[in-house]
Amino acid sequence: MPLRLSMSIVGEAEAEAVRRVITEDGYLGIGKETHAFEKEVAAYLGVDEKFVVSANTGTAALTLAVDALRPTSWKGAGKPRVLVPSLTFAASFQAVLAAGCEPVACDVLPETGTIDLEDAERRLTPDVFAIMPVHYASNPWHIDAVYDFARRRGLRVIEDAAHAFGCRHKEKKIGSFGDAVCFSFDGIKNITCGEGGLCVIFNEEEARIAADARLLAVEGDTAARFAGVRTWDPDVKRLGWRFHMSNIMAAVGRVQLARLEPEFIPARRRLAALYAARLEGLKDAALLRQSPDDFIVPHIQVVRILNGRKDAVKAALAARDIPMGVHYKPNHLLTLFRPEAGDPPFPATEQLYRELVTLPLHPGLTDDDVNFVCDALAEALK
Ligand SMILES: *Cc1c(COP(=O)(O)O)cnc(C)c1O
Repeated sequence: MPLRLSMSIVGEAEAEAVRRVITEDGYLGIGKETHAFEKEVAAYLGVDEKFVVSANTGTAALTLAVDALRPTSWKGAGKPRVLVPSLTFAASFQAVLAAGCEPVACDVLPETGTIDLEDAERRLTPDVFAIMPVHYASNPWHIDAVYDFARRRGLRVIEDAAHAFGCRHKEKKIGSFGDAVCFSFDGIKNITCGEGGLCVIFNEEEARIAADARLLAVEGDTAARFAGVRTWDPDVKRLGWRFHMSNIMAAVGRVQLARLEPEFIPARRRLAALYAARLEGLKDAALLRQSPDDFIVPHIQVVRILNGRKDAVKAALAARDIPMGVHYKPNHLLTLFRPEAGDPPFPATEQLYRELVTLPLHPGLTDDDVNFVCDALAEALK
């Protein structure tokens, strides 16, 4: 089998769970299974169930969180703005837009690819109400400093933790503390629901707003559907979407959640440790920096190829049919998110973009696979 950059690790147990929903329940929309998944994620994270709102994608979860946390009476001249690192999936930026806000692209730190708070400070305007750190390559780098930065400036924090399900900071799970933390359960993330997402919002009122907004903002509809009934005389007072997670998706997610700690976390960490051992000390290759305070469950394996040697590496990997990725083309280089004339430049993001290569990583890989990739890389960089 050719090597895959990433893949869904699903099998009989997930198929059986979907079969059970179809044949035993027959109700495929948001219902008992979705409720059970939310309760199990809440228990896993150690948070109150009322703070947990599942959604049909990570992008939807981010949109719901931005929407729920944005100030209710906005008096600014323009739209409410959110600081976002440029080096992220377009999802982070699109979610901010979808929630009626404006993303402000920020530069990143050259050694981690996470938001540079000094640069963010430079881009701060009175319209900024939130900062969205992205746990790039599952790294919750300087998360305390992000909250500190936000607290001192009266900003909210909406974590894009799409890569970081299962990660911990100082022994606390990502998603167990903060303002709002959003996960993705798309096909290749640390766990999957097929597609899927979830936000944890640590304010009861805001979490309720998000829970309603995912069902067209029909008030109280989530509680009704979890109880297996419908609200026939509801009110709607704000914008909402069809962003809910179905019973079918949740059934897959429940099996995946049970596999996370015994299976996926050890596998991802073992493979990443092997990559680290093999790549450390290789000339012109550098791994991203991590903090000993953080327990990282890597979603992607990123390596920086220094001194302009990325093309040589790309050719060597391609010659052996080893797939590689680039996470990500910076958002400020995308047409929709181009900076305005006079905005500060993005030197670290652009430098990193020239260096970044993503190597295969998923729990289906063997140590031999990783050694094969590392041999090719070592050969190219000799
Ligand atoms: C995957 C991802 C998302 C969006 O999640 P989807 O479930 O794919 O919508 C957002 N941000 C980052 C950094 C991601 O990798």
